Amino acid sequence: MTVHVVGSINIDIIARVAALPKPGETVLALESTRLAGGKGANQAVAAARMGAACRMVGAVGADEGGGWIREIIASYGVEISGIAQVQAATGAAHIAVDSAGENQIIVLPGANAHVVAEPVDGGILLAQLEVPVQMLTTLFAASPSARRILNAAPPTPAALALLPHVDILIVNEHELAALAPGPSAPDQLRSLLTRPDQFGIVTLGAKGLLAVWPDRELFVPAWPVNAQDTIGAGDCFCGSLAALLDAGTPVEQALPLAAAAAALCTLKPGAAPAMPTRAEVDAFIA
Ligand code: ADP
Repeated sequence: MTVHVVGSINIDIIARVAALPKPGETVLALESTRLAGGKGANQAVAAARMGAACRMVGAVGADEGGGWIREIIASYGVEISGIAQVQAATGAAHIAVDSAGENQIIVLPGANAHVVAEPVDGGILLAQLEVPVQMLTTLFAASPSARRILNAAPPTPAALALLPHVDILIVNEHELAALAPGPSAPDQLRSLLTRPDQFGIVTLGAKGLLAVWPDRELFVPAWPVNAQDTIGAGDCFCGSLAALLDAGTPVEQALPLAAAAAALCTLKPGAAPAMPTRAEVDAFIA
């Protein structure tokens, strides 16, 4: 089948600085790099690297950066005919990182605000919240034959209208707290998911993850690794899980495998370049 990823595409412009600038201050960067990013692109790359036939739907500008990033996404094996070139700037994240790893990020949504997706029939539909939520709500409602996965990041109250059309909800601890405040992750997830055939996953960083069904829970510990850079770990988990479920892997097996992929992702810098292949995941857990 196919993993259809509907989501954001950003150029990450990362400046390494000794100290982050204060308001009104100018600082010199030690170096600046340009990387492919955006939760949608990262998750599409993760799904393709895990072996899925992955098609991305998104939008970039009709500018140099847009062409550059489409080529990068394609180079990871993602089918890019659904990435439109529109009359807006390619989405960009301007990221400053200081010597302690603290960061400041300014995101220009640009073309991501213009993403439009057709309903899909079958396969997996995977989306995040960096593209218009109203469009996603229509898309999810019109795609009931697909297994619809929502990574509710970044969290927004508008996502609540989308949840009845979601089959699997994935959030991290901060996103869960923003969407459904409360002391108990299972209760918080269950308050968001009201259909008996839905389930939710809260990722817990280096602790692992908790999957919550209406009548049971499953804790999956993280794989112990010497993490170097956790950027993209959540995206790796979402894309890998989508690929595994698309391949017919039962959820109980897919969860620890996707967690293994996410653990491997923390060993390399960056997001897309850090996504592991299925062979790397199999070798890691052997
Ligand atoms: P996000 O990047 O969205 O904040 P998390 O930090 O919760 O997401 O990470 C997603 C998954 O990645 C976790 O459930 C875990 O399986 C894996 N992971 C994250 N950090 C580590 C780590 N330091 N060591 C091992 N696995 C990790």
